[in-house]
Amino acid sequence: MSFLHINNVHKRFGETHVLKGIDIAIEQGDFLVLVGPSGCGKSTLLNMIAGLDSISEGELLLDGRCINDLHPSRRDIAMVFQSYALYPSMTVAGNIGFGLEMRKVPRKERREAVDRVARLLQIENLLERKPGQLSGGQRQRVAMGRALVRDPQLFLFDEPLSNLDAKLRVDMRTEIKQLHQRLGTTIVYVTHDQIEAMTLASRIAVMRGGELQQLGTPQAVYDDPNNLFVAGFMGSPS
Ligand code: ADP
Ligand code: MG
Repeated sequence: MSFLHINNVHKRFGETHVLKGIDIAIEQGDFLVLVGPSGCGKSTLLNMIAGLDSISEGELLLDGRCINDLHPSRRDIAMVFQSYALYPSMTVAGNIGFGLEMRKVPRKERREAVDRVARLLQIENLLERKPGQLSGGQRQRVAMGRALVRDPQLFLFDEPLSNLDAKLRVDMRTEIKQLHQRLGTTIVYVTHDQIEAMTLASRIAVMRGGELQQLGTPQAVYDDPNNLFVAGFMGSPS
């Protein structure tokens, strides 16, 4: 039994058939990267896993249990978006701890959790600042801190680095990879950046027009693409 089984999942927005039967089995500790051109349905699939979009057909099984109708707040899943959506009037510590406060975690425990995450992300010195006083990279770290502090079973990332400049993107990529290695959590990560996919993924899922084109290790997808689309998209040598 897989940790997360995306079982023949479809999505329709009215007449538009956006996801056309996606099948992916994700194992515990996997770093699955979803790639594909803009509009191919990556965010929609991620939103369905998070419970932010409903499922038109098919099912999502987490640890063997169908979560199609489980409310987002009851899923042990944290999501990091491209835009950071931090609370501007709260300090960094407040932002990171907010989810725990909502869950009525006692103040002392909350503080310890926030400190632990801040150490992990090397933002201990920023805890009393407001988001407006942070750089883009620092804000993205805080957004990650907010996800990490809950210690979720599954992390979803939707193009978390696409707003950062090139140098920072490479640094953050390395940090995310190290975090994954250190924590061993399961990650589903969306990007349209092939290099990011190749460096981060334990497995890559290449999508096109709501369909899965190939699922495999970075090496397999790059060296042995299923079709011309995958070869072209991954920049495989011909
Ligand atoms: P990606 O993240 O790969 O760029 P999306 O999942 O955001 O793609 O979108 C896939 C397709 O679904 C697009 O054609 C988009 O216009 C459409 N879509 C996404 N959300 C909605 C919505 N709420 N209503 C109607 N169409 C949508
Ligand atoms: Mg998207």
